[in-house]
Amino acid sequence: MSPRRDIAIVGGGAAGIAACYLLAPAHRVTLYERAPILGGHIRTVGGNVAPNGPAASAFDPARPLEAGVVEFERSSFVCFTALMAELDVELRPVRLSTSLYRPDGAWHAPGLVRRARQPWPWRLRALAAGLPLVPARLRFDRRARAVDPAELRLQPMADWLPAGPLGDWIRALMTYAWSVPYAETRAVPAALGVPVQRHFLCDPLDWVRIVGGVSTWIDRAIERARGHGAQIRCATPVDAIRRTGDGITIESADGIARHDAVVLATSPGQIPRLLADPDGDEVRRFGALGDHETHTTVHADRGFLDARGVVEPTAFDLFVEGGRGGYNALLNDVCGYDRRAETRFGLSLGIDHLIDPARVIHRQPHIAPRYTVDALAHRDGIIAHNGHRQTWVAGAWLGDGLHEGAISSAARVAAALGGRRLTISRATRSSPRAPG
Ligand SMILES: Cc1cc2nc3c(=O)[nH]c(=O)nc-3n(C[C@H](O)[C@H](O)[C@H](O)COP(=O)(O)OP(=O)(O)OC[C@H]3O[C@@H](n4cnc5c(N)ncnc54)[C@H](O)[C@@H]3O)c2cc1C
Repeated sequence: MSPRRDIAIVGGGAAGIAACYLLAPAHRVTLYERAPILGGHIRTVGGNVAPNGPAASAFDPARPLEAGVVEFERSSFVCFTALMAELDVELRPVRLSTSLYRPDGAWHAPGLVRRARQPWPWRLRALAAGLPLVPARLRFDRRARAVDPAELRLQPMADWLPAGPLGDWIRALMTYAWSVPYAETRAVPAALGVPVQRHFLCDPLDWVRIVGGVSTWIDRAIERARGHGAQIRCATPVDAIRRTGDGITIESADGIARHDAVVLATSPGQIPRLLADPDGDEVRRFGALGDHETHTTVHADRGFLDARGVVEPTAFDLFVEGGRGGYNALLNDVCGYDRRAETRFGLSLGIDHLIDPARVIHRQPHIAPRYTVDALAHRDGIIAHNGHRQTWVAGAWLGDGLHEGAISSAARVAAALGGRRLTISRATRSSPRAPG
């Protein structure tokens, strides 16, 4: 067993919370979080956040609505699945399908074929519109399987987007997956975009939701970490981190504190700002990291889909017009409401112009990683040098950019520091894996 050490974790999103849960049984842990609540992108209305919009009373607080992270792909989210099992978090399958709507009235909605209440002419048109996409998907799959990973690391997604609807579709899916503004999706590194999008487009998938809302798992993990003595400091932004001869000093709103090691679990753009004394290697590795600000909208508006003749929407609808695009995820299924109910709850990003402001339940700011070829070029080096000067890094951006990346990166750091190890069952280990 490694000696008990004093470890600071900066950032209380999925990665910081998972690291706290795994390290607390073996070490003295202090978690610093800038916001008044934990969760980072995990924002559950009726869970860890209260609604702030004019239609706040439209939902049942006993059935919380997701304003950030929504669903998980169980076959590739190996560490996520293992952690949820440890925390006794109930996962329930959800059926996912997508549609793409364009401004000129054109749409591609293979998911509508199976929607029994959607009128037959729509369903037949959906079949006819979906079939031509099949060969383009197969070509994307073949090319993605054959490409040399070294070559992929140098390419942006612009080199991979097929012309026509499949290209628009992949771009809108990237906005959905990583909250990248649609206009910036061409710059997403292919080393991130290609494997994850290929997996989503071409593999059999097994999507699940967390019963009671995503914030359920963080409550349980923090309760157990506190049981091992972990200190949780919310509303405590860290301003600077210095590495001294005998450890780490953290400068925060609470003053100056000394620790033996630090785990940086902030958004990547914070890292170069926080390290007050970077050496040359750190400047090179962390210098290109950045973030961008965005927001999600939780609403109870169905007008924009009614206007398009959609009686029974698919799980997430993508809207692309000109240079802009975004999505609306139907929350009814993933939050335990009947999909056919009169009130349709949605989580949208990038389509505020389509949504009636009076029907907004909650608006949620998010700071998300800016994925570029330059920033990702250093990802392997950051992972390989993790622990350099007692400074460790965890976060979704070190993997698939999703929950699996957050939890797998935290598990890797915790294992290296002598913390608790996640038990990966044989069934999940043999499933197909996304990177991360
Ligand atoms: C709208 C949206 C929807 C998503 N949907 C899904 C989904 O359905 N499924 C999925 O798997 N993934 C989804 N994701 C991806 C998501 O990013 C990851 O799943 C994961 O939640 C990211 O966790 P993280 O800990 O890496 O980062 P974050 O959640 O960004 O956490 C970083 C934390 O660091 C804190 N921090 C920053 N600076 C400081 C500082 N100076 N001092 C102290 N604290 C600081 C921040 O306040 C934040 O709490 C979604 C992301 C967004 C934005």
